[in-house]
Amino acid sequence: MSDQNSQPVPEATPLDRRKFLSGSFSGPLALVTLLQGAQPAGPSQAEDNPDATPAYKASEQEYAMAVDPDRCIGCGRCVEACKAENDVPREPFYFRTWIERYVVQSQGETQVSSPDGGIAGFPPVQESGILRTFFVPKLCNQCANPPCVQVCPVGATFTTQDGVVLVDHEYCIGCRYCIQACPYGARFLHPVTRTAEKCTFCYHRLAKGLVPACVEVCPTQARIFGDSRLRASPLSRFMRFNRVRVLKPHLNTEPRVYYANLDGEVE
Ligand code: SF4
Ligand code: SF4
Repeated sequence: MSDQNSQPVPEATPLDRRKFLSGSFSGPLALVTLLQGAQPAGPSQAEDNPDATPAYKASEQEYAMAVDPDRCIGCGRCVEACKAENDVPREPFYFRTWIERYVVQSQGETQVSSPDGGIAGFPPVQESGILRTFFVPKLCNQCANPPCVQVCPVGATFTTQDGVVLVDHEYCIGCRYCIQACPYGARFLHPVTRTAEKCTFCYHRLAKGLVPACVEVCPTQARIFGDSRLRASPLSRFMRFNRVRVLKPHLNTEPRVYYANLDGEVE
């Protein structure tokens, strides 16, 4: 699997972190910090979504996503929407979600590529002897048994009651343990805040009844989102009617992102 987020990043300066922790950093990430960071760090943070209406009960749902690679056309709109929605740095190696293209040769060899995370689509395949190609959207799997949470020395990364793994940017010390621990390459260190970043399922949108931005913009409905406990949710229906599996099931991370009819090559 190509790892979009394993690029080296420059060391943090003390000034950067002091500035951020003192609250003088501005922008969307600062807003997320204010929304998420008002409670002590650690598992006790697994409270309701701070953007929720009073009627919203985080403990009453468990969010998950399904991905249908057969429907993905590799257009990259989801990658672009994610960057815009979550103020993800524009440099080509920072992604909360990205697309991989698998090219399977007739001799059995498989090539995987993800130019700029697939944000601008993919060039045509030039080689001959191609058996088939397909696209696989990737993102944080919101694991129910997340190694990233287990290794965090200050409890800055945690799981919400509705099943989303988040980072409290006020408590994160940028040690990168979680980035190393994630077996899916789903985390990176934000170049400005020097804190760990990853997909949040667009947590700020969920309690408003909105789906993640990547799901909303996908022109082919290759991403299906919903409450896995609700039998009538689009996600539950999709799971009932498709053969799904998770990535790297042998690691026992218990992902909440499910892939339909996925090729054996994909991990
Ligand atoms: Fe943590 Fe990686 Fe699992 Fe996301 S995919 S919850 S970052 S271990
Ligand atoms: Fe695939 Fe949908 Fe993303 Fe386009 S927007 S790359 S079809 S998942």
